[in-house]
Amino acid sequence: MTTAHELVQQQRQFFNTGNTKDVTFRIQALNRLKKAIEKFHQPILDALKSDLNKSEPEAFGSEIRIVLGEIDFTLEHLEQWAAPREVPTASTLPDSTSFIHPEPYGVALIIAPWNYPFQLAFGPLIGAMAAGNSAVIKPSELTPAVSKVTAELIADTFPSEYIAVMEGEVETSTALLKEKFDYIFFTGSTGVGKVVMRAAAEHLTPVTLELGGKSPSIVHKDANLQVAAQRLARGKFLNAGQTCVAPDYLLVHEDVREEFISLLQAEINDKYTENATQNPNFPHIVNQRNFDRLAKFLEDGEFLIGGRSIREQLVIEPTLLGNVDWTSPVMQEEIFGPILPVIEYNDLNPILDEIVQRPKPLALYLFTNDEEVQDQVFNTVSFGGGCVNETLSHMTSHYLPFGGVGDSGMGSYHGQQSFELFSHHKSILKRNS
Ligand code: NAD
Repeated sequence: MTTAHELVQQQRQFFNTGNTKDVTFRIQALNRLKKAIEKFHQPILDALKSDLNKSEPEAFGSEIRIVLGEIDFTLEHLEQWAAPREVPTASTLPDSTSFIHPEPYGVALIIAPWNYPFQLAFGPLIGAMAAGNSAVIKPSELTPAVSKVTAELIADTFPSEYIAVMEGEVETSTALLKEKFDYIFFTGSTGVGKVVMRAAAEHLTPVTLELGGKSPSIVHKDANLQVAAQRLARGKFLNAGQTCVAPDYLLVHEDVREEFISLLQAEINDKYTENATQNPNFPHIVNQRNFDRLAKFLEDGEFLIGGRSIREQLVIEPTLLGNVDWTSPVMQEEIFGPILPVIEYNDLNPILDEIVQRPKPLALYLFTNDEEVQDQVFNTVSFGGGCVNETLSHMTSHYLPFGGVGDSGMGSYHGQQSFELFSHHKSILKRNS
């Protein structure tokens, strides 16, 4: 079996041939990737069902479709993105022109998590390939079926000196992180993000860290409650809450709390049935360790909605927890499951103070049509990105760079930003005579 060291050496040798610098090569490679994903469509869906019980519509919509859309968008624009860009020259530099040449870094490492194991391995790969890098993907060991199909798809499509998958547990990541890569793209927990950044520092390798955190959702008193209930339920319970940008907790104005909770209940019944533990299409929790961690949170408050769970099936129904405050254990760490603690407020100021005192969230969702409230929230709280009157959708736009800030990460990608992220921007000043 090829070691991490051998693989990186082979990829570096291949990168040094200069083949990947040719934009036509990259376009052909992305087209090959697209065809391969289409060929492996059913095995990918089967793997997502087996690892996480994702239904086919959910798996397609939240994983495969996003990746295919990203490839199409990249193919449409790549020639333009990759071309040298002329920029103005300072007036102190007469008789000169200035250019920025995007160039690939070299050999990239992509470490993926388990929650959207297909999307979060292939999404960054598109950026790495578009920018002309070779790449090694390390999928999560917690979703073994997707890890296997990822390895098969890539081996079937590309030579390993260009794109390769190294499956394995933490030791595999550790072995890879000892090697000198030219770029590291990590998606996962804040704790492991620190491990990755420390390892990268050894080689002065630039990193992108796509991490997690507690993303607030705020339902203000003027919000359209029906719409908010629908969109909050979708954002929270997609993939059983195991979404990095899921609303982690709910802050609701006291005037609308009762009505909003009953609308959420109706929405949950409608979407997931009255007992989601019996719904064959409701995703399960990834493993027992995470199930047990979540089951403890169920003891942290009173059930406003739901509360049932079945350990043998790793399933927890959509649950709203009341009687919770900022000091409750469930408010101390990212939940990453279908449990939504509810805190009510009458004054937004102390609520925003509480959020600001905590690590910067990956996302924030605000339900209000009051622009003063929107300005107040956006001018007060730093967070990766988010939505007004919506959840999750900011991460599906090619035009919105997606990433965290502070404890929720550094660097952003999607659309053109993925290309820029995996490119070094070489600045050239040319004297004309
Ligand atoms: P994780 O950090 O446990 O694992 C991520 C990857 O790192 C896996 O491939 C794993 O094998 C590897 N890894 C684990 N421990 C390691 C170590 N000590 N050294 C080196 N590599 C190691 O994260 P996870 O449990 O797979 O994912 C859940 C977390 O990821 C949540 O916090 C979630 O919010 C976050 N997340 C963030 C995004 C985003 O885009 N910002 C997306 C999905 C998930």
